[in-house]
Amino acid sequence: MLCDCHLHTEFSADSDAPVEDVIRQGITLGMSHMCITDHHDIDYDDLEEHLDFLLNPSEYYQTLSGYRERYREQIHLLIGVEMGLQPHLKTEVNRFIEAIPLDFVIGSSHVIDGIDPYYHTLWEQYSDEEVMTMYFENIYQNIQIFDNFDVYGHLDYAIRYAKQKDHDYHYEKYREILDEILKTLIRMDKGIEINTAGLRKGLCSTNPSEEIIKHYKEYGGKIITVGSDAHSPGDIGAGFERASQILKKCGFKEYYIFEQRKPKALPL
Ligand SMILES: [Zn+2]
Ligand SMILES: [Zn+2]
Repeated sequence: MLCDCHLHTEFSADSDAPVEDVIRQGITLGMSHMCITDHHDIDYDDLEEHLDFLLNPSEYYQTLSGYRERYREQIHLLIGVEMGLQPHLKTEVNRFIEAIPLDFVIGSSHVIDGIDPYYHTLWEQYSDEEVMTMYFENIYQNIQIFDNFDVYGHLDYAIRYAKQKDHDYHYEKYREILDEILKTLIRMDKGIEINTAGLRKGLCSTNPSEEIIKHYKEYGGKIITVGSDAHSPGDIGAGFERASQILKKCGFKEYYIFEQRKPKALPL
């Protein structure tokens, strides 16, 4: 099975998955590598449960490197983070990333002006198209500011929670901003990921959509990682057959993992 490079454990406020169960599931599925990417979302408030999405970098790193050692004969455990990006956080984000020797950094947008589109607030106030436009503008703003990440996570995450989901969602509607985002990422030598979580939340396609992945490839994008965004062991590797089909259809022959922040290609 393809290597899963977007995984949450009990280090994330929204997961109870024991690290060891996550690793064992990767081994059972026959992955050569897997990357744990717990949330570090600074200045994030879910507005309902007020969960703490912050990691203690040394505790996180020490625990995971202990497991990496223990399971080294069976799987290459990579240590990553899913970093919540917001335009005002550059210093804090860099401080965290430089504190521990991470293999992989996913930069993700989880909020639009401080509000997570996971909650219905924004969708009640604006049309699906308006929220998606705001979401993409936020990503565009982030990539003008941040350079210290390897791939941009689930580029169209917000569509998971749209009133109509992705039923009337097309590249053309957002072409101008999406072209800018993809071309900027490619110029910066940054990758994207294909994230299969949306398939488990009623979407027709992955995040980002097949159309976005196709344009990324057409514009010269090469680096793409594959992630289930599993928050429980049973979801690890979920939808990877579909992800592989989409990538091949878009013209990819390889996907990537990151080790010590360096991309390494693996065959699809
Ligand atoms: Zn995320
Ligand atoms: Zn995630």
